[in-house]
Amino acid sequence: MTSTTPSPPSKPLTIAVAGGGIGGLALTIGLLKQGLSVHLYESAPAFAEIGAGVSFGPNALRAMSLVDPAVRAGYDKRATSNGWVEKKETWFDFRHGMRDDKVGSHIAGVVASGTGQSSVHRAHFLDELVKLVPDGCAHFGKRVEEVEELEMEGAGVRIRFHDGTTAEASALIGCDGVKSRVRQIVLGERAPAAHAAFTGKYAYRGLVPMEKAVGLLGEELARNSQMYLGYHGHVLTFPIEKGKTMNVVAFQSKTDGNWEDERWVLPMKKEDMFRDFEGWGESVRKILSLMEKPDVWALFDHPPAETYYKGRICLLGDSAHASTPHQGAGAGMALEDAFVLSNLLGSVHKPEGIESAFRASDAVRRPRSQNLVTTSRTAGLLYDFEGEGIGDDEERIREDLIQRYQWIWEENLDRELSEAKALLGQRAKLV
Ligand code: FAD
Repeated sequence: MTSTTPSPPSKPLTIAVAGGGIGGLALTIGLLKQGLSVHLYESAPAFAEIGAGVSFGPNALRAMSLVDPAVRAGYDKRATSNGWVEKKETWFDFRHGMRDDKVGSHIAGVVASGTGQSSVHRAHFLDELVKLVPDGCAHFGKRVEEVEELEMEGAGVRIRFHDGTTAEASALIGCDGVKSRVRQIVLGERAPAAHAAFTGKYAYRGLVPMEKAVGLLGEELARNSQMYLGYHGHVLTFPIEKGKTMNVVAFQSKTDGNWEDERWVLPMKKEDMFRDFEGWGESVRKILSLMEKPDVWALFDHPPAETYYKGRICLLGDSAHASTPHQGAGAGMALEDAFVLSNLLGSVHKPEGIESAFRASDAVRRPRSQNLVTTSRTAGLLYDFEGEGIGDDEERIREDLIQRYQWIWEENLDRELSEAKALLGQRAKLV
């Protein structure tokens, strides 16, 4: 890891972060920038992300800059946008993918002003984030198992790891993903909201070399982001790796609504995927035939939690609000969380103020992030012609799509932080 220029810790607070995905790393970088001492505990032997693309909307790009301009600079170095100049502001072109009479025809072009489709290879973005974490900050092979709050006044938490070791910190922030252990600790293991629920959808993910994609689909469809809609499924593609690769995610609905396998990510059998997409149009079948090393992912999300914190333990990113990927906004929400929470903790000067910072963060972040979980599920239904009262009505789908993303993208994050700081200020005596 290369050290950048985080301020030396200037406050008597040590924050433990569980999990080094996009959320945990962004939070760590934000906290370091605020002059806090941070220890990141990652269960895996090294930082790792999967070989797939991830898209970010305008709100997420703003959040990167607000967490630390170095995060945005690292992202910009690796990011890819649509290939054609006239598509630079397009988020996705939505098309029919299935209906015989309409395959390929355009339903709607959704525009994200100023950014368009902006995406990155996950592993490459993670590499850039890791460069901003100084040596000695991250500890690997440390799976959080239990957390106990210390009773002595001003003391924080003791964390017990799977390997039997322990660590103490002023507070713990769980960034440990959709299967979060810290969420179970905050909400109680038996609480139904402590566990993610299957959403009835699953997805095949894979990558296609761009030259092959262009050869089969043509320039426009291969080099610019596309979403092909059909009955009970949809397929999306967008360019990553500066246009060298086309990222593909092909979604399907599970008719019985259950996911039996205890694994949520499985190697894929190509024949299963082709069976799922029987009867789809030629473009979609061509895309599937090109997918290299695909996996199948069961899509789970979280029932709404009543709180994102308990005492000195807090949740961030997917551990707080895992959602389906249908609005391409889960990782963006984690970046927003990291901006708000790191700044709130940066305003706290005594360990006793940490809980007030968690409370303020919870108040502003929980409604917005839980709204995403709901609207993202609805988006999945819409794309699969299952939208209530909408079905395959093209006009109504178009109307819905045009306005569906705005509340996510137009968020004023500075205002959110001001509101949270005002809540924190009301408890100023404590902090
Ligand atoms: P994670 O990335 O899950 O990281 C959790 C980390 O915690 C991991 O490193 C894990 O090893 C570690 N860990 C787990 N348990 C423990 C423990 N007990 N102790 C210590 N460490 C632990 N979002 C977007 O914004 N745009 C998209 O285009 C997009 N596409 C998606 C496509 C699919 C198919 C899916 C499934 C999701 C997509 N998302 C997208 C959502 C996005 O991937 C997540 O919201 C985001 O990656 C969450 O980051 P995180 O850091 O909170 O969690």
